Amino acid sequence: MGKILACRDVGVDCDVVLHGKDEADIMRQAAAHAKSCHNNVQVTPQLQAKLRSLIRDEGGSCCGGSTCG
Ligand SMILES: [Zn+2]
Repeated sequence: MGKILACRDVGVDCDVVLHGKDEADIMRQAAAHAKSCHNNVQVTPQLQAKLRSLIRDEGGSCCGGSTCG
């Protein structure tokens, strides 16, 4: 199962959802995406920590999908 990170969850108005095979893959894509689409965003260590906390398992985990709760 891969990992996903929704750019919107980070707090920006952006519909991009990054799909990666693991956390490191997502982080690499996030850095590239921030550079190309969010020029005003600095990927600081603080932001990296936030991104890591927002990475989810692809395919819907509990409470991430429509079947829970
Ligand atoms: Zn974005």
